[in-house]
Parts: sequence; C-alpha cells; structure tokens
Amino acid sequence: MGILEIKNLKKIYGSKVSFTALNNINFIVEQGEFIGIMGPSGSGKTTLLNVISTIDKPTSGEIRINDIKPLLLKGDELALFRRRELGFVFQDFNLLDTLTIGENILLPLTLDGVLVNEQNKKLERVSKILGIEKILNKRTFEVSGGEAQRAAVARALIHNPSILLADEPTGNLDSKSSKIVMELFEKINKEEKVTTMMVTHDPVAASYCNRILFIKDGAIYNEIYKEDSRQQFYQDILDVIALLGGRDNEVY
Ligand code: ADP
Ligand code: MG
Repeated sequence: MGILEIKNLKKIYGSKVSFTALNNINFIVEQGEFIGIMGPSGSGKTTLLNVISTIDKPTSGEIRINDIKPLLLKGDELALFRRRELGFVFQDFNLLDTLTIGENILLPLTLDGVLVNEQNKKLERVSKILGIEKILNKRTFEVSGGEAQRAAVARALIHNPSILLADEPTGNLDSKSSKIVMELFEKINKEEKVTTMMVTHDPVAASYCNRILFIKDGAIYNEIYKEDSRQQFYQDILDVIALLGGRDNEVY
C-alpha cells in the first residue's frame, strides 16, 4: 500500500460553464518516493496539488494519505490532519515578516502546543539538516531567497509529515539557489526518507526526482522513472516535454 493513493480523481470547475480540470486521475506514491508533477500551463498541476493537500475539494474520487481519507474529515479533524500529516512548500516561501526565521520554522509546533524544550530540540535538528543554524534570529527580509526557501522547507519538515508537498519551490530562485534547494530536497528524501511530491516546470529541478508524472488536459499523459544518472533523467524529461509539444521552459 502506498503512502498516497489517488483513485478516479475528478475536478470540474464551474456550474453553468463547466471545465474539467482533472479527468479520472489514478496513481499511487510509495513511501520514500520523490515524485515530480510536470505538464503544460493549465494542465491541472496546481489543482491536483490543492486537492491532495485538501485546500480544494474534488468533484469525485478517492484520496488516501497514510491510510487516512481526508475527504471524510471536517473542521478540527481536517485542520489537525493537515498540520500533522502534510508539509507544504510554496513558490513564494510564505514566511511571516513579523517573526524571525526560527519563529517561522517553529510556528506549526507552537500552534500544536508542543513544549518549548521539545520545540528547541526539533529546531536544532531541522536547521542543521538545512544548514540554516546561523540565520535563525534573522528576520525574513534579512535573508536571501534561497535561505528563505530553506527555512520554509525546515518549517514544512518540523512536524515529520507523512508527505511533503511543494508547488514550484524553485520558481522564485536564481539557478544557484535552485540547485542548493534541490540538493536539499534530494538529501531529505534520501537520508530522512521523506516522501515528497513536487510540481515544477523546470526540467533541471525535476531531474532530482525519482519519478515524473506528466499531465496534459487533466489526465496522466506519461510517467518516467530515473534509471541511472540525473543527467540522463534530465534528457529523458526533455524528450517527454518535446513529445508533449512544449518548448522547454516556455509553456511549462
Ligand atoms: P496548472 O497549475 O497546470 O497551470 P491549474 O491546475 O492551475 O493548472 O488549472 C487547470 C485548469 O483549470 C486551467 O484551465 C484553469 O484555467 C482552470 N481553473 C483553475 N482554477 C479554476 C477555478 N477556480 N475556476 C475555474 N477554472 C479554474
Ligand atoms: Mg500551477
């Protein structure tokens, strides 16, 4: 059984004029995978991530995460599920300017009423993994984009979520910071065994994954696994993008 199971997932937007954004999606993510989601602009990537993360509701279908069916949860139970089982990383970091980097990372634990001693132990651990021990007392506007995203990843991980969900995590970073952030995602996946699902339009970022699902018009178009080197996987990704009719970065 996978850590994430998606069955016959459908999302239709609108009522009078309806639009099928997800059309019968089925897939399973195994514990420890690092899966990438790619596809042309408007193909349903964000919709898929939002439905999995319970930000949005599907029209029909089933979702199972760590043997829990979030679609059956409501109110406090759903809020708790989100906080305990999921970790989120966004394109624009989503850190609070009024808090220090350390306070931002601790926020999920503070909200959950975790004891200060325990909080500090966890903070030390995640900030070491992400190499951000030296910026914990800084404000969000005193750090670089790459550092802010590393802090956002630390915040997403501090709860030991069942799955880490990231929507274009390198979208606002220069290529050097992107590389650092992707190497950290890779390390967290390999060494900490964190199951990760990332939406990206960047073939370089995608090459750090172990599998890519390509979606087109709301349906799964293709899937490829990394077999040997990251360089080869990058080439394979470009090949599928070409088949999909995209011109590399432009429409992705
Ligand atoms: P992607 O992230 O792959 O670019 P999205 O998941 O954001 O694509 O969108 C998929 C399709 O659904 C697009 O055609 C988009 O216009 C449409 N869509 C997204 N959100 C809404 C909404 N709230 N209402 C109506 N249509 C939407
Ligand atoms: Mg999107």
